[in-house]
Amino acid sequence: MAAPRIHVIGAGVAGLAAAVRLAQGDQKVVLHDSAGHAGGRCRSLFDSQLDRRIDNGNHLILSGNRAIRDYLETVGAADSLTGPADASFPFRDLKTGETWVVRPDEGRVPWSVLFGPGRVPGTRLGEYLRALRLACAGPDETIRDCLAGSGPLFERFWEPLAVGVLNTPVETASAKLLWPVIKETFGRGRAACRPLMARVGLSESFVDPALDYLKAKGTEVRFNDRVRALNFGDERLDAIDFAGRTETLGPDDRVVLAVPAWTAADLVPGLDGPREAHAIVNAHFRLSAPPTSALPLVGLICGTAQWVFLRGDVASVTVSAADALAAEANDAIARKLWPEVRAALDLPADAGLPPWRIVKEKRATIAQTPAADRRRPPPRTRWDNLVLAGDWTATGLPATIEGAIRSGFRAADLVVTSLSSA
Ligand SMILES: Cc1cc2nc3c(=O)[nH]c(=O)nc-3n(C[C@H](O)[C@H](O)[C@H](O)COP(=O)(O)OP(=O)(O)OC[C@H]3O[C@@H](n4cnc5c(N)ncnc54)[C@H](O)[C@@H]3O)c2cc1C
Repeated sequence: MAAPRIHVIGAGVAGLAAAVRLAQGDQKVVLHDSAGHAGGRCRSLFDSQLDRRIDNGNHLILSGNRAIRDYLETVGAADSLTGPADASFPFRDLKTGETWVVRPDEGRVPWSVLFGPGRVPGTRLGEYLRALRLACAGPDETIRDCLAGSGPLFERFWEPLAVGVLNTPVETASAKLLWPVIKETFGRGRAACRPLMARVGLSESFVDPALDYLKAKGTEVRFNDRVRALNFGDERLDAIDFAGRTETLGPDDRVVLAVPAWTAADLVPGLDGPREAHAIVNAHFRLSAPPTSALPLVGLICGTAQWVFLRGDVASVTVSAADALAAEANDAIARKLWPEVRAALDLPADAGLPPWRIVKEKRATIAQTPAADRRRPPPRTRWDNLVLAGDWTATGLPATIEGAIRSGFRAADLVVTSLSSA
């Protein structure tokens, strides 16, 4: 009997993680993506305007992201991330020019916060203790319900962190979703919260090494291979319709559907997952030279720019929950953000607008509200041979690379379990 084939549909990080885990177990995998490349919402591209390779958007990773670590180790890219030597998060207030650094303590107990020296300027002990409310946030509580009114710490730390992680305004973002991130990083001390980013590019870390690994394992990778429809029987998925051909599934074949929430909702009958999304805008500026003393990552408050990342001579700015900004013209966005980047990097006040590129991801992630979180489906479906993966499925985590990879691993494990019990 022919070995079962496992079709992984979608080669974003969730689909790649599923394919890698399956190939690692010597399963016969076919990976399909509608685009001409892999990576989905996490990829690099060459920009001719800047004459540089850039990412579709800055992606911040924390050293406590254990699924990312496992994935990168498996595909041989564990050393492809970089970041400041210690776990430090420098911030600047764009209104006052004030700067400070959030430096998590070595151990689990934040002694320096409790006794004073590690506190954000102007904040008091009670504001930090209030953060414990996140641990027992109810399913309907938003970040603002849970943490606002706690004083300057909200504006100077929680809001920039929460908007960056959840890509949702604090008034509507689910508080429950932020807690696992805090627990797995800040809650485990300094070693788990070092900020990391791709040294060369997202594709060089998350995509190309995975494709090389899959190739070496004999995985068939088919780009420009859009799934148009799924043909369901009563208990099984019978066939996959691609543009111009139909693939009939054998009795032991399995499918991992790792497409975005809105595509999955169109393909799977009755799937009532989250559909609302928020935009992320990234502005990339090519500087005249790499700044010598600037930090690789700076958080900004009281402006439009939220986080500035520096890679060589390219400064990239992230604005999350940016639906209104994404509606503005690109040159207006570049002109609005450049003075803020100049301040963040301590560049001369007369430094003129350098070459720039704006990348708008209008559906960067699902809106991570309490209501949307309730609609995130588990990976199992009512069809024996179909499982779901993707950052939008019920991972218990926000829609991030870490969540996407965990969902891919979980989907692959479910497939293997179902094959072994078939
Ligand atoms: C600008 C931006 C900044 C971000 N910043 C961060 C960050 O700082 N840290 C972090 O951890 N996360 C960040 N994220 C989120 C992170 O990128 C996503 O959570 C992750 O990439 C989602 O991966 P995925 O595989 O679930 O989905 P996707 O990447 O969307 O992959 C789905 C794949 O399915 C394919 N597909 C779609 N329809 C079909 C079809 N009909 N047939 C076949 N294939 C199809 C698509 O081409 C795509 O490749 C950011 C996202 C964006 C956009």
